[in-house]
Amino acid sequence: AGAALKQAKRLLRGKSLYFRAEQSRAARDRINMLQMLRSALSEQHLELYYQPFIRLHDREVVGAECLLRWRTPDGQFIAPDVFIPIAEQSGLMIAIGEWVLRTALNWRAAMNGRVAPDFRVAVNISHAQFAEPSFVGNLLRILREAGVPGYQLELELTESVAIENFERLKAKLEQIQAEGIEIAMDDFGTGYSSLSVLQRLHLNRLKIDRSFVSGEESSGSFSMVETIIAMADHLQLKTIAEGIETESQCAALLASGCQDGQGYLFARPMSEADFSSWLEARAGG
Ligand code: C2E
Ligand code: MG
Ligand code: MG
Ligand code: MG
Repeated sequence: AGAALKQAKRLLRGKSLYFRAEQSRAARDRINMLQMLRSALSEQHLELYYQPFIRLHDREVVGAECLLRWRTPDGQFIAPDVFIPIAEQSGLMIAIGEWVLRTALNWRAAMNGRVAPDFRVAVNISHAQFAEPSFVGNLLRILREAGVPGYQLELELTESVAIENFERLKAKLEQIQAEGIEIAMDDFGTGYSSLSVLQRLHLNRLKIDRSFVSGEESSGSFSMVETIIAMADHLQLKTIAEGIETESQCAALLASGCQDGQGYLFARPMSEADFSSWLEARAGG
């Protein structure tokens, strides 16, 4: 029995050593990535891609969402889902978020004359960024510096913002909307926001999550999407669906009363140059 106990102890010790090594490797990887990300920001290796918003009934281009891309020195792209959580935990997302806003608004200003005046650029705002006390002040300063009217900007927030103190959240949203900036609830249906929170906050738009758009087609029922749109109508919110990949999804959304859409059916997220060519090709064809 003594020998068995010794062996068990040895095994356990080995395991925990191994575990600790794994942990510190993960921590080291995170720190490495953070350092790389910090230099990516200062050396301009971050890029914004733009994916058009399409008005479903006439297929006009009514806006675009900017999506962050990180190009590493060896030409690879790292997906935002990978590096944004790390940036958020470290506080670096504040600086990155400001860079995104400035870049997106300068792009919008440069698009004048090539798009309709009410063409909107949508910017994703992470929870940590939105929760910063200086967020609204910085946002309005960047907007002025870019010379873009508020109605040309939309902010995409996720349901996680609702964990902030309700009165503070409401006041912030009102201050932002007073400038004409619109607020969309991104990935709607995947979070935990209650109906009453939705009703008491004055949002402008619900963005139906991709999982509802793509998942329902196979089952032959669009009931979840229909429910969300009915609710949006009731709350007098506009709707946009993300992840539209097929004509039949598009037709079903249109029939359900969804206003706008975004997805590979229309276009993938594109670099600034590709977006311009894409617009020109549409105007020509
Ligand atoms: P999101 O805001 O929900 O953005 C939509 C995502 O769906 C994008 O992924 C887009 O490329 C993808 N998508 C669009 N149409 C289709 C489609 O038809 N099929 C499929 N399969 N996918 C489609 P992406 O670019 O990888 O971004 C992932 C997430 O990263 C975004 O989700 C957003 O939450 C976050 N993100 C991206 N850029 C920023 C940013 O500048 N700031 C913050 N805070 N978050 C960002
Ligand atoms: Mg988004
Ligand atoms: Mg989304
Ligand atoms: Mg999404």
